[in-house]
Amino acid sequence: MRLLLVEDDPMIGEALLDLLRSERYAVDWVRDGAMADTALRSERYDLALLDLGLPRRDGLEVLRALRARGDRLPVLVATARDAVADRVAGLDAGADDYVVKPYDTDELLARIRALIRRGEGQAGPVFSHRGVTLNPATHEAAQDGRPVVLSAREWAVLEPMIARPGVVFSRTQLEEKLFGWKDDVSSNAVEVYIHGVRKKLGAELVQTVRGLGYLVPR
Ligand code: CA
Repeated sequence: MRLLLVEDDPMIGEALLDLLRSERYAVDWVRDGAMADTALRSERYDLALLDLGLPRRDGLEVLRALRARGDRLPVLVATARDAVADRVAGLDAGADDYVVKPYDTDELLARIRALIRRGEGQAGPVFSHRGVTLNPATHEAAQDGRPVVLSAREWAVLEPMIARPGVVFSRTQLEEKLFGWKDDVSSNAVEVYIHGVRKKLGAELVQTVRGLGYLVPR
């Protein structure tokens, strides 16, 4: 899953980047509202973690512009501890949820998982389809109840397809789930990880749609 992190404080930003990457998210980090706006207009994300107090363009403005475009991206706003007015303003501007700074990292991660789940139309805490279950909270995968060890990148390409069976994902879309902007993606990376997934979970789970990409059948 790919996240946009919008945070102008370099120390908090670094810490969040490390935390989110260690949780296997592909993360792009921008440090002001104008960059956030550009990123949200040009890239596809599964969630944005949005600080409200930002240079160049206020977080609320960025959020209002996003919703005015009809974009339904899950957005988690970050507010200061006693700023009830900020929380209300954030929710009213179209945020889906908020977290209070300083972050409790377990709570932050749980809220991120919940919003991504909701964004995928999934009610329960695990993604489950065709006997394969993926638990984003524990990173445990299983097939027919039997544990399967997936690498972080195999997980990253499989998770969106298990979350949305029947939807075709292009190679580019899956590459976006793998890495942030600063990472290099070798041209056959997606094929390599799909190959790994098929070896572990069976050749039929992920199907190739010629010229379009890949899907997990309904
Ligand atoms: Ca700030």
